[in-house]
Amino acid sequence: MRLIFLGPPGAGKGTIADIAKDAFSIPHISTGDLFRMHIRSETSLGKRVKQILAAGDLVPDSVTIEMVKERLAEDDASAGFILDGFPRTIPQAETLEKITHIDCALNFEAPREMIIKRLSGRRVAKQSGRIYHLEYNPPKVPGKCDLTGEPLIQRPDDTEEAIVNRLEVYQQQTAPLIDFYRSKGVLKDISATGTPEEIFQRTREAIE
Ligand code: AMP
Repeated sequence: MRLIFLGPPGAGKGTIADIAKDAFSIPHISTGDLFRMHIRSETSLGKRVKQILAAGDLVPDSVTIEMVKERLAEDDASAGFILDGFPRTIPQAETLEKITHIDCALNFEAPREMIIKRLSGRRVAKQSGRIYHLEYNPPKVPGKCDLTGEPLIQRPDDTEEAIVNRLEVYQQQTAPLIDFYRSKGVLKDISATGTPEEIFQRTREAIE
């Protein structure tokens, strides 16, 4: 199963992809996570993109596409994958078409106020990659990851200024992908309100 998770930042794509990857036994490939891994490891790519991510701007297409091509060529992606956060521009989507076939693009929809609330309350565990929310999905012990016990942090691009920019970038560059995939007949709209379990249930039904 080859899936794309579309939708604005804060719609819950990463959280749902985490559930879906286990349910469908396919890897969750998040370009944001890949970039953050490079930043943590201080690779040359990481140094190049650090400021771009912190500001909430998009990494240039050529750089992003190269990274995704390499990831999709790995063995675990041969039977399917969830692409979370890619493509984000029309040129990225056009390139993806040349690399592989997509079964379904899921468009997670959420109202703006909810997105801002979700992003500003989001906390993440760097090592485990787990995503929490202060209010909607708190860890068992405040400030600590349930899996590893590591401290939870706020992403640098979850500040108010970066959030506003990311939403604008989404409207201008990524939202046109909704029509791109709709016109190909593979788009499913998913209401991204409710609990992660409810949203995943809708996702499963839409795919099936
Ligand atoms: P995310 O974790 O999906 O919100 O992505 C975090 C950041 O990584 C974005 O704000 C961009 O700076 C960068 N990024 C992730 N995916 C892409 C992409 N497909 N194209 C360009 N930049 C991306």
